[in-house]
Amino acid sequence: MTRSDEPLARDDAFDATAFHDDALAAVAWVERYLARVPELPVLSPLRPGAVRAQLPAAPPERGEPFSALLADLDTIVVPGLTHWNHPRFFAYFAITGSAPGILAELLIAAMNVNGMTWRTSPAATELEELVLDWLAQLFGLPAGWHGHIEDTASTSTLAALAAARTLRPGGAVYASEHANFSVEKAARLLGLEYRTVPVDGEFRMRADLVDYDAATAVVPTVGTTATTSVDPVAALADGCERSGAWLHVDAAYAGSAWVCPELRWSLAGCERADSVVVNPHKWLFTPIDCSTLWTRRPEALAAAFSARPDYLRPSEGGALDLKDYGPALGRRFRALKLWAVIRGFGREGLQAAIREHVRLAALFAVWVAAEPGWEVCAPVPFSVVCFRHDGSDEENEAIVERVNASGVAFLAGTKLNGCFVIRLAIGHERTTVEDVRVTWEALREAAAAG
Ligand code: PLP
Repeated sequence: MTRSDEPLARDDAFDATAFHDDALAAVAWVERYLARVPELPVLSPLRPGAVRAQLPAAPPERGEPFSALLADLDTIVVPGLTHWNHPRFFAYFAITGSAPGILAELLIAAMNVNGMTWRTSPAATELEELVLDWLAQLFGLPAGWHGHIEDTASTSTLAALAAARTLRPGGAVYASEHANFSVEKAARLLGLEYRTVPVDGEFRMRADLVDYDAATAVVPTVGTTATTSVDPVAALADGCERSGAWLHVDAAYAGSAWVCPELRWSLAGCERADSVVVNPHKWLFTPIDCSTLWTRRPEALAAAFSARPDYLRPSEGGALDLKDYGPALGRRFRALKLWAVIRGFGREGLQAAIREHVRLAALFAVWVAAEPGWEVCAPVPFSVVCFRHDGSDEENEAIVERVNASGVAFLAGTKLNGCFVIRLAIGHERTTVEDVRVTWEALREAAAAG
């Protein structure tokens, strides 16, 4: 039997020498991974169950050296990855874990603070306020809005719609038939009816078909998931202002483009929104997860989420307790990685990367349009091209499958007007014109082989 004065915990829980060696090995692993990832097949070729089959079914009794885990990364984990941090990842919305963001994640874990209230870590709250303020400046959003970070746009939209419901309960949520599924999910969770609105010939929500009086909230998208179309936010704002419905703008992907003044045409009307969500983990080079939500009605968010349990007193002096503005109590120090990315890139660096993606998408669209047997299927306002080859849906899906199976690139598709189209989504920091060219060649070869 253990005597009560004997320590039960490991007394070597922090061994500075071992930590130093392991940290260097982990960083060396990251360095090697980032250097070789462009050579790896983008889509994992593994069959379901293949990763688990290589791992012990039960946990170890005794602690193992960290080097054992690193060894398993190379042999078991990496072959089971679809490499999102790959310059030829062109599916869904391409993203980037950039160097400043990767390193900041290490620092965040080391501090391991929980910024649920200001008091529980003043720097976490104040940096979050500062960084959201910086980002609002970079995007040209109105000054003085409340901004905070959620994990994903799904949560940000849930929070916005919960706030809307406190003001107008019982109405419906209106969004375009091309809105992201996260909007419907949030409405469902909140017990709000969800109504989709048809789009025009360029996949933009028809503002004239919204019943504003019946709406709790209207959710236009700036950069829809399928085509990156931009809903008419200003016209929708007119209707919402007349009726009192909440206007929540889902700019999860395309909001990052606002860092470039020439792309701010897509910001028009957003200054009249009640809330706006942009995901830096989509097109702002921040490792997943990081979703930024601004609102000019923070009191409605607080009405939905604020709670004052005895064990968690409000912070002194009117300091902000961010737990009162979203569904989660525990809050990671995500502001640190966003701060690191903004400082690492600077305004100019962010602009240059986004401009390059827009340029590459435009170039790719020109190649497709000029090639007999291929067509571009939607306007290209940002960095996503929807296109297809002459032939059936099955033939187009087979083209994508062949390219994906080759490992050269990873693309996905969607349906437009009932027809399958291929999507090339550019958004990785290191994507070059050569990556796009190689992928175009792979697509043409796959079409010729069909
Ligand atoms: N909104 C749009 C337009 C999206 O494209 C997506 C995801 O791709 C989302 C919201 C959901 O984002 P998240 O995965 O951060 O919840």
